[in-house]
Amino acid sequence: MTAAAADYLQPCPFCGTAPASAIEVDLAMWAVVCNHCQSIGPLAGDERRAAELWNRRPPA
Ligand SMILES: [Zn+2]
Repeated sequence: MTAAAADYLQPCPFCGTAPASAIEVDLAMWAVVCNHCQSIGPLAGDERRAAELWNRRPPA
């Protein structure tokens, strides 16, 4: 797994923990997953995009 894409991820909107990175949840489907509460961010085609979508998510 490359760490090049996401240099910063917003804290999880549900538990406030900062996720480590986006992961490949399925073939060519990436999402940021919270290690603490297992909430999953928006799916995207690559790691960088998944991180962008996670960071763009409005506060709940
Ligand atoms: Zn969380």
